[in-house]
Amino acid sequence: MAKIQAIRGMNDILPEQSPVWQYVEDTVRRVLSQYGYQEIRMPVVEQTELFKRSIGEVTDIVEKEMYTFEDRNGDSLTLRPEGTAGCVRAAEQHGLLFNQTRRLWYTGPMFRHERPQKGRYRQFHQIGVECFGMAGPDIDAELLILTARLWQQLGLVEHTRLEINSIGSAQSRRNFRSALVDYLSDYIEELDDDSKRRLESNPLRILDSKNARTQEILEHAPALDDYLDEDSRSHFQTLKTLLDAAGISYTINPRLVRGLDYYGKTVFEWITDSLGAQGTVCAGGRYDGLVEQLGGKPTVAVGFAMGLERLILLLETLDLIPASVNGNADIYVTAMGERAMAPALELAEALRSMLPGAVVISHCGGGSFKSQMKKADRSGARYAIVLGENELASDTVGLKPLRTDDEQRGIGRAELPTVLRDLLA
Ligand code: ATP
Ligand code: MG
Repeated sequence: MAKIQAIRGMNDILPEQSPVWQYVEDTVRRVLSQYGYQEIRMPVVEQTELFKRSIGEVTDIVEKEMYTFEDRNGDSLTLRPEGTAGCVRAAEQHGLLFNQTRRLWYTGPMFRHERPQKGRYRQFHQIGVECFGMAGPDIDAELLILTARLWQQLGLVEHTRLEINSIGSAQSRRNFRSALVDYLSDYIEELDDDSKRRLESNPLRILDSKNARTQEILEHAPALDDYLDEDSRSHFQTLKTLLDAAGISYTINPRLVRGLDYYGKTVFEWITDSLGAQGTVCAGGRYDGLVEQLGGKPTVAVGFAMGLERLILLLETLDLIPASVNGNADIYVTAMGERAMAPALELAEALRSMLPGAVVISHCGGGSFKSQMKKADRSGARYAIVLGENELASDTVGLKPLRTDDEQRGIGRAELPTVLRDLLA
C-alpha cells in the first residue's frame, strides 16, 4: 500500500531542527517578557465569520486562502489564517480590554491555502504581538524598538530593514481611494489582471502589485500622503521622531498598504534581502477600528506578526545559529552488563541532581562496549561514563572524553560530579 504523506505545504519539524526553533522562540519570548508582554493562547479554529468580518471579504486571505469547512453540526469554521482576529475575539470575550491597556503575544500555527514555495507554506508559524488601549505613536515605536532588540540578539541587525508608512484614517483612505480609482480607470486596459479586479474591490492593494507596467502607471498616480488626515499625519510625524531618537533607521514606503482591511494609520514591514521574494519577516500596523468592528467598545490597537519559518530560514542562510544550539547531550552514561543497569540509572540521576544544566543520557538496551560507545558518540555528548563489572567492584567509573583524543581514565564515584562540573563549565 502507498504510504500516507504529509499534506503539501505542511511541514514536519524534525528533532534535528527543533533546537533551532526553540532557540528562536526562547529568544523572542525573553525579549517580550522584558517588555512586560503577556502570553495568550487561542484556539486554532474559529467561526468563519470572525475572519470575514475582520480581515475583510475582498482580501487574498478571505477570497482564496482560507481552510474553511463545515462542522458536524453545520457551523462554518475556519483554521486561523492569522492571529489578530482570534486575539481580539478572545480579549473582548473575556473582558481584557475594558478600561485597561494590554500588551499580549501568542505563537502557533496559521493556515493559508497558498502555492507552497520557499518561505511560503500552507501551515506556517507566527509569533504575534497585539497591544490594546494605547493611542499614541509611542506604542508603535515600542513595537519597533523591541523588534530591533530582537534582531540585535539574533544577529540580524545588518540583514533586516524597516519600511514604514501611514495609511491614514478610514475617511482619508476613502478619499484617496476614489482619486486612485479615477486615475487608474484611464489605464484599465494596461493593468495586470489582479489589479483590474482590485480596481472594483480593493484598489489600495493595487499599490503593491508586483507588475512592472502597473508600477509604472502608479508613478504618476495620486499619493496617499496627500490625502492623510491631520491626526494621522501628526501621529506619523511623532513616530518618525521617536524612531530617530531611538536610533532605528527606516525608510518611508508610500506604497506600503498591507493586505488586510483592518489596518489604519501606521503600517510597517521588516524586510530582508537575503530570502528572495519571500522577504518580509515581520509585518504589522495599527488597527484602531477592529475591536469596535467586531462588536466591542471602541479600543485602539496596534500589533505585528513575524513568520517563524522565514526567520529560521534567514538565520540558516546567513549561518547565524550559534554552535551551542545543537541539541547535543553533555554526558552519556553507559551500562556494561545487566548488573550495571541499576547503578548506571542511579548514577545518571545523581548527575542530573547535581548538574541541573547538563543533558545526561542513560544508555538503555544493553549491547557491547563498542556499540554503546558508538551511541555515546552519536548523542553528541562530550563525555561518556563507563560503568561495568570492574568499575562497580572498585567504586569508580571510567570517564572517556569523546571530543578529544584523551584516554579514558578511572575516577572515584564520589568525585565524579565535581570533576564533571569543572569539565563542563
Ligand atoms: P506575504 O506578502 O509574504 O504573503 P502577508 O502580508 O500575507 O505576507 P501577513 O499576513 O502580514 O503576511 O503575516 C505576517 C508574516 O507571516 C509575514 O510577514 C510572513 O513572515 C509570515 N507569513 C505569511 N504568510 C506565510 C506563509 N504562507 N508561509 C510562511 N510565512 C508566512
Ligand atoms: Mg500573503
